[in-house]
Amino acid sequence: MDFVFQRTYRGRLKAALLDWAGTTMDYGCFAPAVVFMEVYKRQGVEISIDEARAPMGAHKRVHIRQISQDENVARRWQAAHGRAPEEKDVEEMFRDFIPRQLACLADYADLIPGTLETVAAMRRAGLKIGSTTGYTAEMMAVLTAEAARRGYVPDSTVCATQVPAGRPHPYMCLQNAINLETYPMEAMVKIGDTLPDIEEGLNAGMWTIGLAKTGNELGLTGEQIQALAPDLLRSRLAKAYRRMQQTGAHYVVDGIGDVPPLLDDINARLARGERP
Ligand SMILES: [Mg+2]
Repeated sequence: MDFVFQRTYRGRLKAALLDWAGTTMDYGCFAPAVVFMEVYKRQGVEISIDEARAPMGAHKRVHIRQISQDENVARRWQAAHGRAPEEKDVEEMFRDFIPRQLACLADYADLIPGTLETVAAMRRAGLKIGSTTGYTAEMMAVLTAEAARRGYVPDSTVCATQVPAGRPHPYMCLQNAINLETYPMEAMVKIGDTLPDIEEGLNAGMWTIGLAKTGNELGLTGEQIQALAPDLLRSRLAKAYRRMQQTGAHYVVDGIGDVPPLLDDINARLARGERP
């Protein structure tokens, strides 16, 4: 046969999946970073905040393992312990991490400006709201309660601990699709502040939006950003935009408040028969 017909979704977006820290709350994504530093310090190994941030977005146990595999951290570990970090160290640090993270999560639970407005715009457009996170279910119980007190209540939240594997695998997104009873995947958009956020959305066959300014890429509070020299801010932002674009994000914007116009653009692309 010389011609085949291809089935194409030309409807509108049906759901948005939002990340948590650095996307909807915890401007600059500080809560996990400070606890990773503390957990390593308790093992006699100092790590920098950049080293603590590098694997951000992953399941927190995977995150601790990835820090231990950093060449410089492994060297300092070797000096302190006389051997390389092993899986049992990762397990011990993850056990240490859980209560410490739980104890301070609520201190970093303020919503990022624009979150409530963007979620309201999504609701008006008929979108369901799902969410994915590298936090455990126990941590999310704290955060969803804090978010609800501030007026943010997504329809579905899936943690890395509730699926076979966290980011960059697509399972948290796919579980959200089931929870929200939504398909096809090209009718959904993933929004997040880290490269693994973008990868999980792409791996799930979704549209993706990277947030360059309010999350882990800059790793600064709103006040710290305002205090930054304009040149330095410009170059650091440009680097974040580039990293997210090169990971394959369909769009990169500063923060969640910049998202609503992109939804119209995605709807126009879907209507033309484009796929993510
Ligand atoms: Mg995040």
